[in-house]
Amino acid sequence: MQLLLMGPPGAGKGTQAAELVKKFSIPQISTGDMFRAAVKEGTELGKKAEACMKSGTLVPDEVTIGIVRERLAKDDCKNGFILDGFPRTVEQADALAKILDELGKKLTRVLNIHVPAEDLIERAVGRRICKGCGATYHVKFNPPKKNSTCDNCGGELYQRADDNEQTMTTRLSTYESSTRPLIDYYKKVGVYTEIDGRQPIAKVTEDLVKVLSSVKD
Ligand code: ADP
Ligand code: AMP
Repeated sequence: MQLLLMGPPGAGKGTQAAELVKKFSIPQISTGDMFRAAVKEGTELGKKAEACMKSGTLVPDEVTIGIVRERLAKDDCKNGFILDGFPRTVEQADALAKILDELGKKLTRVLNIHVPAEDLIERAVGRRICKGCGATYHVKFNPPKKNSTCDNCGGELYQRADDNEQTMTTRLSTYESSTRPLIDYYKKVGVYTEIDGRQPIAKVTEDLVKVLSSVKD
């Protein structure tokens, strides 16, 4: 199953991808996570991505497409994958179509998690992530049982550097100009489904699973 989770920053893509990974045993491919790991390790890729991430703009297409091409060719993607945060431009979507063609695969579904703009800043600013296992929490909507500690692994929670109001404003306008056009793009391809992301996390998962139980790979 080749899935694509779409939606604006803070819509719940990472949260839902984690549930779908458990349910379908296919990997989550998050370009944001890959860039953050590269920044932390201080690699060449990290150096190319860091300034864009800090300001809330997009990392250049040629850089982003290159890392996805490499990642999708890996063995663990043979039975499918969940793309989270890629593609974000029409050029990336065209490149993805080419990569999938080369691999002899097709997109099974594009699942767009719809959340209105007015909810997104609060979601991002309240987001907390586990340093150990990467689990995502929210200070109000999905708090850990013990303050600042991960329920799964006991790891320390941190706040992403770009999860502040100022960077979020840029990320949201970047989404509007570069990524929103992909909704029509995938409607035309005929694999598009919209999910109401304003519901509680478990209900969003339920809706996603319901859609996926009726699609053919
Ligand atoms: P994305 O990967 O799309 O940027 P995340 O999955 O990281 O979004 O979610 C952003 C924040 O919103 C996180 O703090 C998460 O806990 C919270 N969140 C996710 N889904 C919901 C939901 N359905 N209702 C309320 N908060 C949510
Ligand atoms: P995310 O973790 O998906 O919120 O992404 C964090 C940041 O990483 C974004 O604001 C961009 O700077 C960068 N990024 C992630 N995915 C992409 C992508 N597909 N294209 C360009 N930049 C990306």
